[in-house]
Amino acid sequence: MSDQTGLLIIGASQSGVQLAISLRALGFEEPITLLGEENHRPYQRPALSKEWLQGEVGNESLIFRSAEYWDEHNVTLVKDQRIVRVEKNPDGSGVAVAESGAEFPFKRLALTVGARARKMAVDGADLVGVVYLRNADDALALKAIVGDATDVAVVGGGFIGLEAASSLKKMGKNVTVLEYGPRLVGRAVGEETAEYFLEAHRARGLDIRLNARITRFTGEAGAVAGVEFEDGSVVPAQIVLVGIGVVPNTELAEQMGLAVDNGIVVDSHALASDGTTVAVGDCANMPNPVPGSPAGERIRLESVNNAIEHAKVAAYSLMGRREDYAGIPWFWSNQADLKLQIAGLSMGFDATVVRRDDERGKFSVLYYRSGRIIAADCVNAPLDFMAVKNALAKGQNVPADAVQSADPGVQLKTLAVPLTTAAAGGTS
Ligand SMILES: Cc1cc2nc3c(=O)[nH]c(=O)nc-3n(C[C@H](O)[C@H](O)[C@H](O)COP(=O)(O)OP(=O)(O)OC[C@H]3O[C@@H](n4cnc5c(N)ncnc54)[C@H](O)[C@@H]3O)c2cc1C
Repeated sequence: MSDQTGLLIIGASQSGVQLAISLRALGFEEPITLLGEENHRPYQRPALSKEWLQGEVGNESLIFRSAEYWDEHNVTLVKDQRIVRVEKNPDGSGVAVAESGAEFPFKRLALTVGARARKMAVDGADLVGVVYLRNADDALALKAIVGDATDVAVVGGGFIGLEAASSLKKMGKNVTVLEYGPRLVGRAVGEETAEYFLEAHRARGLDIRLNARITRFTGEAGAVAGVEFEDGSVVPAQIVLVGIGVVPNTELAEQMGLAVDNGIVVDSHALASDGTTVAVGDCANMPNPVPGSPAGERIRLESVNNAIEHAKVAAYSLMGRREDYAGIPWFWSNQADLKLQIAGLSMGFDATVVRRDDERGKFSVLYYRSGRIIAADCVNAPLDFMAVKNALAKGQNVPADAVQSADPGVQLKTLAVPLTTAAAGGTS
């Protein structure tokens, strides 16, 4: 059907870039095409809500690799081409067709298509000044209007919303965070961490409203002017930044007949249900990679660390090797002077222990399942983060009772012990 011209990677961001780099490091010799729909060189997203938004770093610092690097490594970069259809043969080869009509033949295919911002469906959502923050174009659109705004409403109290809100506050804006749920960062952290962030952000001047029932965005002359609530009250806003989560880009996978369930379903070697296509990063639903997690548990992660580690697994797969996900998933989120680091995955926890040292501004929550540590949220506590990450990687426990009875000044790493049979039980 097609000229088989090596590997085609659809999606030129964190996962796609890492996949190309890892393949070359492993000695993959076929041509690689790294193709994306955005009209930018591949760039890193995290600073868009933080240092870049605040003007602390410029555009160039976000770019992953130089043009020379890609040339030297025989990787063809294609920008501004949105793939709308893939025709694939059972042997893994095929052709991808772009909206423009351009065709990209391949011998093997990788989907690193990520996720897109979930859209807000209320009256006024189309007004000028209602913006999102998923990609560089979104960020540029926000930056273009931020200078003229006094009041900003951030819809969504998740990581992106809180990072952007903290940046905008630092830039001198009156910022109101509107969260639909009863607490902040509902999806990713437990109650204690959510409560800590609520307290800490309020103390730093963010107006945070939980259980916010938005009915519409009000406008004047086509531009947003405020956010209206069920009780008729209005918060003024010349910018409304919506950060209510993302939707994985699964349309191509669906069109190809691949299994999809909150992401493209892959096995522990990043292979999709056809056995030849790899899918990596934010778009992929994979087996929980943490050693000792319950058999069959699956997860879709949205983090830089996962994009990198998952891409390495996929690179091995494309080289015909079966290697496990290396390391323990981790995540960071910088919000003003609050530096959150999360080690492990807290899903399924049944107990927590809080370590709080207000004098030094440190706060950690340790999560346990059946007596075994599975994760930690650490705010301005990098040593706690490292201790838990290392313990998880070494298959050790940090027993809850030892942490509870220890002074917050005691280093967690000194409390790590080999897993007892009891704590190792209950998981497989
Ligand atoms: C503002 C912001 C701040 C963040 N901060 C942090 C942080 O502090 N820490 C952290 O760990 N993570 C952070 N993240 C998350 C992290 O950036 C993502 O997890 C990571 O980018 C995922 O990489 P990916 O390559 O899997 O997907 P994406 O980055 O979503 O890239 C997918 C690419 O595929 C392209 N694409 C999709 N469909 C098609 C198609 N049909 N044809 C062609 N191209 C297509 C998309 O346009 C996109 O460029 C942040 C994300 C954002 C948006």
